Amino acid sequence: MPTGQYTRTKEMYKTRMGSVPWNLGVSPSEESRLKMRNAHLGKKLSEETKSKMSLIHSGNKYNLGKTIPSDVRQKMSVAHKGVKAYQWKGDNVSIEGLHHRVKVEFGIANKCENPECTYPRKNKRGEMMAKPKRYEWANISKRYIRDVKDFVQLCPSCHRQWDLGIISINFK
Ligand SMILES: [Zn+2]
Repeated sequence: MPTGQYTRTKEMYKTRMGSVPWNLGVSPSEESRLKMRNAHLGKKLSEETKSKMSLIHSGNKYNLGKTIPSDVRQKMSVAHKGVKAYQWKGDNVSIEGLHHRVKVEFGIANKCENPECTYPRKNKRGEMMAKPKRYEWANISKRYIRDVKDFVQLCPSCHRQWDLGIISINFK
């Protein structure tokens, strides 16, 4: 096999363009496969080559070296602020966030755990209600401890009375 440097000219490209590569659809014979295997077998890559390959393959190259324009950065900043923010608030978790978390872990409340709760009952406008419109997760300790065990299901009426301290509920 001749060695040396070959320079590919534009003319060479042009003549080859559209022509079928000689090895297209041709599988190497068992013999040549063995030869190719042996040629590479036992060869160790130099540390330099290894580090080059490592650099090429390491990390996520997406967005690398790109700068986000300041107006886009501004938009991203606004978009991620407030309720949409995925932030971990530690022990100062917002009540809304906690309610959401309880809902996610326990599902949607579907009963009132106040044994004294009876339906049908009158609402504050004096109308009879056959059953509550919905159920809610109420906080037992009223300290909004980050513990799902600190929550019970109540109907909105019991929940309000419980939060205002009008009723006391014996939770099992
Ligand atoms: Zn109730």
